Amino acid sequence: MKNPDETYQDGIEPRKYTAESRFKFACHKGKECYTHCCSDLNIILTPYDIIRMKNRLGLTCDQFLAIYTKPEMLVRTKLPMVTLKMLDDDKKSCPFVTPEGCTIYEDRPVTCRYYPLGMAAFREQEIQPTGEDFYFMVRESHCLGFHSDKEWTVNEWRKDQDVELYDEVNHGWMELMLRKKSFGFQVELSEESRGMFFMVSSNVDRLRRFIFESSFLDKYDVGKDLLEQIKTDEVALLKFGFEWLQSALFGADKVKLKDHVLNAQKEQPKKAMRAAKTSR
Ligand code: SF4
Ligand code: SF4
Repeated sequence: MKNPDETYQDGIEPRKYTAESRFKFACHKGKECYTHCCSDLNIILTPYDIIRMKNRLGLTCDQFLAIYTKPEMLVRTKLPMVTLKMLDDDKKSCPFVTPEGCTIYEDRPVTCRYYPLGMAAFREQEIQPTGEDFYFMVRESHCLGFHSDKEWTVNEWRKDQDVELYDEVNHGWMELMLRKKSFGFQVELSEESRGMFFMVSSNVDRLRRFIFESSFLDKYDVGKDLLEQIKTDEVALLKFGFEWLQSALFGADKVKLKDHVLNAQKEQPKKAMRAAKTSR
């Protein structure tokens, strides 16, 4: 049997990695292949990636999305996402790569942090019904990082690359994908629902305006303390957005409608019935 640490075939290794799986890898400045991995990539930006990157660059969400991203639709879940737009040069370079390295290194996306590992949750067919996390290994011939005796478990690598915070903040977003899967990939969300998902996933500025400048707070019961928190804290706002989507799109019992809205909803079928009877 081939030893995966000694063979270099481009692509995804056909093996599931769990938190305690081991691999050998080392990456640092000065390597012959330094930054060779930063071009021609399809990097899905998670909601927390977008917050970190647009703040790093001093941009609004709208500006960041317009300059650095392109919209994508996941094939099976049909959920809208954004990916990082590569430059239009020969290599299709990442807009943030320079010969000295990544110019936004401290705020680089979670996909770059995990590399050479990938999160199975980003490969739709592999979203686990249990929500169990697992990973896969991307082995590319240009990456000399595998020529190393430095050994890691997946969890050690996650800690070293600071991905735990990203995974914690994005947790509710991952749950949404899981819920979508449990409802069945063939069940399509309406255009309006996809728009709501896209707003929460990519644009906290717009989400804030939606909550505070529309009739949202007339309809939903949001406690005073939480309201104060989401006014000023983008991460709290994002997590609230995930909970709202889970409730509004998939019926989770997290963000509740006010009693008068619920009563009006209960009344609607009765009214329709009465109207149908009188029109006979
Ligand atoms: S964001 Fe940074 S680490 Fe990620 S591909 Fe671009 S340059 Fe490389
Ligand atoms: S070792 Fe791999 S991840 Fe590190 S710079 Fe080289 S190609 Fe990129």
